[in-house]
Amino acid sequence: RVFNFSAGPAALPESVLRRAAEEMLDWHGTGVSVMEMSHRSAAFQSIYQQAEADFRELLGVPANYRILFMQGGAIAENAIVPMNLLGDKRGADYVVTGSWSTKSQQEARKFAEVNIAATAEASGFTTIPAMERWRLSDDPAYLFICSNETIGGVEFAFDPDLGDIGRPDLPLVADMSSNILSRPMDVSRYGLIFGGAQKNIGPAGLTFVIVREDLLGKAHKDCPSAFDYALVAEAESMYNTPPTYAIYIAGLVFQWLRAQGGVEAMGQRNAAKSALLYNYVDTSDFYENRIDRACRSRMNVPFLLKDDRLNAAFLEESAAAGLVQLKGHKSVGGMRASIYNAMPIEGVEALIGFMQDFAKRKG
Ligand code: PLP
Repeated sequence: RVFNFSAGPAALPESVLRRAAEEMLDWHGTGVSVMEMSHRSAAFQSIYQQAEADFRELLGVPANYRILFMQGGAIAENAIVPMNLLGDKRGADYVVTGSWSTKSQQEARKFAEVNIAATAEASGFTTIPAMERWRLSDDPAYLFICSNETIGGVEFAFDPDLGDIGRPDLPLVADMSSNILSRPMDVSRYGLIFGGAQKNIGPAGLTFVIVREDLLGKAHKDCPSAFDYALVAEAESMYNTPPTYAIYIAGLVFQWLRAQGGVEAMGQRNAAKSALLYNYVDTSDFYENRIDRACRSRMNVPFLLKDDRLNAAFLEESAAAGLVQLKGHKSVGGMRASIYNAMPIEGVEALIGFMQDFAKRKG
């Protein structure tokens, strides 16, 4: 197989795909595929419960948080979050660090008075505004961040402690679509974490929500029932038919992660992988990355060729060398190497080898 640098849906561990293929026609002697099982069957219930338990253990989710498996993706959550968390408050605060948090705050405006507590727009979204400079509104329902901006390549390297800015009780909400399970984290710093599964967890179609129990039960009266966190939690994610096959694959990924040493090992590997690539880009005079070093994403490494007339050749030749889906997002141009958990260090080494060779030939 090639090394696949797709930003998402992204590469999955090969052993997971092989196991799914082996089990495709007959899951554990049931005679049916997981795709063909009732979500209420004992067989699927066991798959679901194992996946939930493994996710909880891997991330260290405290007992007073519920894990919900939903649909609609992270973009739907941009609306579902305010519909559920606003309660009797009028507004919510957003920290804007790139394309995804920009989208989130725009969507929230349909439901809430949005205060931009901080924005990195003036920098071209190359940094994260220091917490001491966040300007919160008087009584927001929550404060929103995107922990990893998949397009721009900016990542929170820490779990913000709102106690540090005098708001210990304000729920922190994070879109973690693209860095969930990539390092150890302190879930207790957050009121709610959500994301689409299709980067570090599994196939598209599954949305995870991790929500502190005291935030349940405040949904707006017009909130669709299938998106009311309290109803979904009460029904153990079976209020409607959940994306069963995607949950099954996510479960296999969680088992793979446990075998790899969990998020501790992943965090070390992801730090090493991204450092290798950034170090090469920084020392090269052929490529560049403009993100503040302290905020560089360990999941998505965007880089520019200093001569952008070579972009097409770079993409064509890298693909021919078995390094695929490196094209940067159209809003930033250049290249982007997404190196999620499933990308081995050998993939990053192969990419650097290609980049060196390309630079030597064209530089
Ligand atoms: N938020 C982030 C950080 C993302 O990377 C993505 C990427 O797809 C989205 C939101 C959108 O998610 P979805 O397409 O699952 O709605």
